[in-house]
Amino acid sequence: MDYDAIVIGAGVGGLTSALILSRQGKKVLLLDSQPVPGGYATTFKRKGFTFESSVHCVDGLGPDGDVRKFLDDNEIGKEIEFIELGSFARMVYPQDDFVADFERDNFMVLLKGKFPQESAAIDRLFRAMDKFYGQFDNFAYSNLPMWLKLILAPFLYLQVIKISRKTVREFIEDYVKDDKFLAIVTDIWRFTGTPPSRLSALYFLLVFRGYYYSPTAYVRGGVSKVFEAMVGQIRKNGSDVRFNAAVVKIITDKNDAVKRVVTGNGEEFHARAVISNANAIDTLTRMLDNEAMKKEYREELSSLEKSISAFQVYLGLKIPARDLGMNHYLFSVNMTYDHDEDFRYSLEGDYGKCSLELVDHSQIDPGLVPEGKGSLLIMTLDSYSNWKDLNEEEYNLKKQKVADMLISRVERYLPGLSKSIELMEVATPRTMLRFTSSSEGAIYGFAQTVGQAGINRLGQETRVRGLYLAGAWTRPGAGIHACLLSGMDAADLALKFLKR
Ligand SMILES: Cc1cc2nc3c(=O)[nH]c(=O)nc-3n(C[C@H](O)[C@H](O)[C@H](O)COP(=O)(O)OP(=O)(O)OC[C@H]3O[C@@H](n4cnc5c(N)ncnc54)[C@H](O)[C@@H]3O)c2cc1C
Repeated sequence: MDYDAIVIGAGVGGLTSALILSRQGKKVLLLDSQPVPGGYATTFKRKGFTFESSVHCVDGLGPDGDVRKFLDDNEIGKEIEFIELGSFARMVYPQDDFVADFERDNFMVLLKGKFPQESAAIDRLFRAMDKFYGQFDNFAYSNLPMWLKLILAPFLYLQVIKISRKTVREFIEDYVKDDKFLAIVTDIWRFTGTPPSRLSALYFLLVFRGYYYSPTAYVRGGVSKVFEAMVGQIRKNGSDVRFNAAVVKIITDKNDAVKRVVTGNGEEFHARAVISNANAIDTLTRMLDNEAMKKEYREELSSLEKSISAFQVYLGLKIPARDLGMNHYLFSVNMTYDHDEDFRYSLEGDYGKCSLELVDHSQIDPGLVPEGKGSLLIMTLDSYSNWKDLNEEEYNLKKQKVADMLISRVERYLPGLSKSIELMEVATPRTMLRFTSSSEGAIYGFAQTVGQAGINRLGQETRVRGLYLAGAWTRPGAGIHACLLSGMDAADLALKFLKR
């Protein structure tokens, strides 16, 4: 069958691209190997409990946020009920246990209270961030052609250039040299998966702005409501969406232009443009039929570092988690102020020490659980290498053991937790791989190191004419907001290509 464009993968990036193209009157086919849309960002149900498979909170979803605006512009917003989020989170460190307000000015007050000797430096640090955001927006939203922006960069966007060369540790230490300060300011590093000593300051600051500079929201019923609505809209625009349809091959012609895709059950679909939201490694080194190009990409991509994976425990509780002491919907537990050391705990599978992120979605939306009950998500970063070689029996045993260990660690803060559990589901790095085909269960695409972030990150264009990439493996990176932007850029390129 012939289409204008085929989109492989109904994750955030793919859905965004398919929606834009279909809205522009293009006949699109969106294919996903899973039975539901959303990729990592799905919602699942067990015995009356609804769980977010991964998402904790989405930046850009507040009233003025980019994600909200996109949904509103595409008639999705009116199908969704947003719940505006309070900005508080509990953070525990070896000598600190406090509630942080995820709001710029209030967070500054908290930092100055904890580090009074650094008060002036904290003002300078936040002024530097504000300057960066101002210049970054001028760069991103300017109508100048990219080549001109790059020529003008040393004059107009010097702060962006300077910051894009630094790790977040280097950037913060230009102002405040204190390990505890660094730990608390970068507490959300887990949302990026790369520790501060290697994490791109540019990427960190964009994520930081998403949480500390603007309010955000949750979606009543779970984030997958958004993706179901996007599928509905794509179909309404006259395009096709098929689930349980894995693409195994992208066929090109002798001019290195995309021709058609082949699915696992042998169906073939033709299109002039293909956008792949499947992971970049699979797309460029496996699905592509051009052996020479695959070899080139294999060499190029094998030198890139992948992000880490995760281990998650989903608990259905007999009572609300708030009754156990979960007073805020977000809660991080850190055994060290050194996030690099913490990252090593995760890499080595030291589940007694790795940091934990707790999320109580049912505190925001009680409709997610049966009346009077509660839920809790416990997440820690984890490496695929800790799980990949286990046989089925070893795997199941370890899964249970690690889940029990994390629950007993959380019980220190939420006494009575284990007795309140009604049901439990567990996801390991192997689960991440199984449900999204993400290479080694990487949860954030390529790691956001300085050399792999910003303009250094894999872009949406490929060497194959008509083939584009969207999603966490590409620019700007992981997260609903970033993947949406990647999907917009990929759609834009595909539309221009189709006009030629
Ligand atoms: C544990 C965890 C916590 C997170 N927390 C947050 C958070 O709080 N806030 C936030 O904004 N983000 C969060 N994220 C990140 C966010 O969920 C992801 O970055 C984002 O959803 C990735 O979207 P994507 O476009 O890259 O697509 P993916 O989610 O990677 O989906 C890719 C899709 O492609 C499909 N596919 C793959 N191969 C094929 C094939 N061959 N043929 C057909 N289909 C294929 C897959 O089935 C999948 O549906 C979290 C992620 C994880 C894992």
